[in-house]
Amino acid sequence: MAGISTWITRRAQRTPDAIALIDATTGATTTYAQLAADSARRAAALRARGVRRGDRVMMIGLNSTAQLATMFAVARLAAISVPVNFRLSPGEVAYLISDATPTLLLHDDMFAELAATAAEQAPRAVDLVHLDALEAPEEVFAPEDPVTADDVAMLMYTSGTTGKPKGAMLTHGNFEWNAINMLVAGEGMTPRDKTLAVAPLFHIGGLSLYVLPLLYTGGTIVVAPAFDPAAALKLLEAHKVTVHFMVPAMWDAMRKVPNFDDHDLSSLRTLLCGGAPCPLPVIDFYQGKGLTFMEGFGMTELAPAAMILEAQYVRTHAGSVGRPVFHDDVRIVDGDDRDVATGEVGELLMAGPNVFAGYWGLPEVTAHDMRGGWFHTGDLARMDADGFITLVDRKKDMIVTGGENVYPIEVEQVLLSHPDVDDAAVIGLPDPKWGEGVTAVVSLRAQASVSADDLLAYCRDRIAHFKSPRRIEFLDVLPRNATGKLLKRTLREQFGSDGSAVTR
Ligand code: ATP
Ligand code: MG
Repeated sequence: MAGISTWITRRAQRTPDAIALIDATTGATTTYAQLAADSARRAAALRARGVRRGDRVMMIGLNSTAQLATMFAVARLAAISVPVNFRLSPGEVAYLISDATPTLLLHDDMFAELAATAAEQAPRAVDLVHLDALEAPEEVFAPEDPVTADDVAMLMYTSGTTGKPKGAMLTHGNFEWNAINMLVAGEGMTPRDKTLAVAPLFHIGGLSLYVLPLLYTGGTIVVAPAFDPAAALKLLEAHKVTVHFMVPAMWDAMRKVPNFDDHDLSSLRTLLCGGAPCPLPVIDFYQGKGLTFMEGFGMTELAPAAMILEAQYVRTHAGSVGRPVFHDDVRIVDGDDRDVATGEVGELLMAGPNVFAGYWGLPEVTAHDMRGGWFHTGDLARMDADGFITLVDRKKDMIVTGGENVYPIEVEQVLLSHPDVDDAAVIGLPDPKWGEGVTAVVSLRAQASVSADDLLAYCRDRIAHFKSPRRIEFLDVLPRNATGKLLKRTLREQFGSDGSAVTR
């Protein structure tokens, strides 16, 4: 027997009364025995609605214990869960329906309308079912379908930062190895560990950095429906959470909670940040509080953990995403896939048992990205002599100006270190003289008085002139997707098409 649902049934045999899930809103607890029974009932209900091996079951909803139980139910049937971002428009969800061709679209109360509108717009029919309707008589226990490590457990769509989201086929084996990699990282995790599931479960980071690994090891998950910074801070304290993951935008929002210091966070062993570059002031804030705040690098295609900066190195190697997880190998290569020298920037390649089985319906893209047996991440990185990796930027976002390479993240970090700057994105826009011109789009804090000229001077004092922005635009809010990533393609469209000349 293999597969993620056996994690729960095996735990239910060994530690039936251990608490698997806590509903953050009601305080209701679910033991491992109850979770196993609930997911068995849900599996029976899904089977009764026609779900069979290999069928896709799409889900859209706030984080909930029902959603987790349903994912294990789908896995029991050797079917495929497709968690979907609830911040997508109906048209975008309709696109995912046409791409994944699910048998069912499950939804909660909150997103019943979104699901219905999307289903209407989708070119093919899909049955809509409320998550709470997956009830079946107690005695109907669906048998576990034999599942192998190579069966696909989930179709997880990438965040769609650089283009249309792609369905990454993640196998049961991928999740198992990701769990092992996470459980042996640093000082390890045990059944005594507890996490707060407040990052969205439809995103691989929210689902699979701590939530799934802790269910594998018999730990406890406090499930919060949605992110509110002040409420999350309270939950961390009240539940004595020990390990916690969020994306940078969430960590940033949380540090701005006015009475932050009134909270006792001494239970937290590890604060993990990843999914996008973390502004240095955010790292400094949490480390300044004496907390172990570490960065990690992950991708949907890697289920997702690839690199982690282990606790003992957070101070000595701040700014690095650490070293590869235990079972993974890494290379950094030039455009011809030849290894670059230590310290040089190149594309990051990964290999390991957590590397996905390919993109759904995109065999050519898969073959291209997996050429030579290594997954080409599309990210640029450099490695130091001790094997620590620093993420430089996405290949697609690199700016070439006057023949020089500029990595936007470096420029953004400088802008973000200015006290008046709230958010910053740096993009390359076509420029007749330089090829591309470095353009910064900035949002300011309330009552900020800094001018574009001040910001330009600030950058030029800190980084080379060719890296400093030639043009600065101000926006109230920068476009970010549901996981807090900057949507640079939107900015390139917005500011690239207005025909305005590069100003400096
Ligand atoms: P799409 O592939 O659809 O364009 P996406 O790449 O944003 O979207 P994800 O799989 O959610 O989708 O994100 C993985 C990417 O996030 C990585 O390839 C990398 O660019 C970025 N990323 C993840 N962790 C970090 C980090 N610690 N620092 C900087 N960037 C990171
Ligand atoms: Mg990607």
